[in-house]
Amino acid sequence: MTTKTVVVGRIKHETNTFSSLTTDYEAFANTSLFCGDYIIPEFRGTNTDIGGFIRVADDNGWDIIPTVAANATPGGVVTTEALNAFLTPLVTEIERSNPDAVLLGLHGAMVSENKRDGDGEILKRVREAAGDIPILATLDLHANVTERMVANADGLFGYDTYPHVDIGETGEEAARVLASTFAGEINPQVVVERAPLLPPLPSLRTECEPMCSLLADAADAEDDHILDLSVFGGFAYADVPEAGFSVVGVSDTERVEETREMCEQLATSAYERRHEFDRSYTSVEEAVAEASTWVDENHDQPMLLADIADNPGGGSAQDGTVLLKALLNAEVDDVAVATLIDPRVVEAAVQAGVGERVTVELGGHIEDNGNPIEVAATVQHISDGTYRNRGPMSTGLEVTFGQTVVLECDGVKIIVGSHRQQPYDPEAFRAHGLKPERANVIVLKSTVHYRAGFEPLVETIREVAAPGLCSPDLSRFEYEHIPRPLYPLDENM
Ligand SMILES: [Zn+2]
Repeated sequence: MTTKTVVVGRIKHETNTFSSLTTDYEAFANTSLFCGDYIIPEFRGTNTDIGGFIRVADDNGWDIIPTVAANATPGGVVTTEALNAFLTPLVTEIERSNPDAVLLGLHGAMVSENKRDGDGEILKRVREAAGDIPILATLDLHANVTERMVANADGLFGYDTYPHVDIGETGEEAARVLASTFAGEINPQVVVERAPLLPPLPSLRTECEPMCSLLADAADAEDDHILDLSVFGGFAYADVPEAGFSVVGVSDTERVEETREMCEQLATSAYERRHEFDRSYTSVEEAVAEASTWVDENHDQPMLLADIADNPGGGSAQDGTVLLKALLNAEVDDVAVATLIDPRVVEAAVQAGVGERVTVELGGHIEDNGNPIEVAATVQHISDGTYRNRGPMSTGLEVTFGQTVVLECDGVKIIVGSHRQQPYDPEAFRAHGLKPERANVIVLKSTVHYRAGFEPLVETIREVAAPGLCSPDLSRFEYEHIPRPLYPLDENM
């Protein structure tokens, strides 16, 4: 048997169309960008989509042709220039090498400047270049799956967890379906069914209902021919015509109708259980009051305050000051904060040097999420802000805040970085000389992902409803393009 050749690529972005920060080439370069031969050594052994592809390729003796691996922290629309900078080498390599298949790591909620459906555009261009060979892609649980994506792929595989601790496994799953396809055992096909739901991020936690049992029902229905059923929560902060909840099935051609029925049943069940997506949150005032007393109560482990709406992992500015200001005003002691983004403050702190005092106007520069706050602090640490995840999510992947400082202000230690990046791994603190488990109160700019790494370190968690572009209160956003009605925006459904 001749060696199979598989082109591998990764172009990922979750686009928050309400963000004023355009996602250009530099945004990808500042997050995670590798080309050609640099890709396999970087991703081998990691809990990532490409890490999963590599594991199955190694087992089957495939020849991987790596092209581009580009991911930018969620933000505003992706520029045409950036999308083409990654799509062109991918498509060119497919045309040049004439592979047996293509495996892609996509997100599924990318909105580009010229094409609203960024992922659909990627798959369409790949199909045009590749012709009738298997094209399989992994998607994030927050994908807004479109007809164009479905029409141009032979397999779409979503993560089954949020926090996304199974990204590598999902990559393996897609690659194993490819192995069965190569073996002539199956001929995969994709179907999608939708539900008129647009749940905000915290409602999609897969440890909670209704996602927990929807995913269990999906897994129960899978067999040797209904190869994969993915439940996609959608991404509520992309104002696009195909935004929302969907269920995608990958099956052998013979079982397509049965698979479609399963998808429809799951989508209907999700809609019928729509009120289970409702959540309540802690106000800033309540959170600060609790944190103030927590410090005096001699707990063994910290309290964690999640600044859920200012999550860069959903496209927020990550410089919101409302919660931090309230904690400083209340003089809450022994607080560790990860991570505010303010390059000018970093620059001033670096110029001053470790051990020196600075007075800075911190945060609040970008979106309507609090004004800049004047902070007089000591510079405690300076670094390049780069670390490798050690927790359960994207384990082994290198991430960075760019040049980063730790400022200490009346018992509050604030990590301030230069590039937006969600601090979901405890290494976000440890790489900067801080031990999060030793603090009394931890503050994180993250909605859900932090739970994978931080839950073992803390005693209690509050989801704090400060302002930001990932606010679970969707009535704050002016939607123009999403299909209506959608629950919970149109509540009386
Ligand atoms: Zn996601």
